[in-house]
Amino acid sequence: MRDRPLEEKPACSTTSMPAPEALTCPECKADLEIWSDESEVSCENCGALILKNIPS
Ligand SMILES: [Zn+2]
Repeated sequence: MRDRPLEEKPACSTTSMPAPEALTCPECKADLEIWSDESEVSCENCGALILKNIPS
């Protein structure tokens, strides 16, 4: 049995961490944020549903 160094990656660390992205509401031009792991967001200002363009 080998002792492993403590430098192993934590289990909670993923290669693609969610990050907020800036969006502008097409309806009311409000500044919004959408997380990179979300595909749609509701505008806090006017309630419009904005779909994020997901590159495929
Ligand atoms: Zn809006």
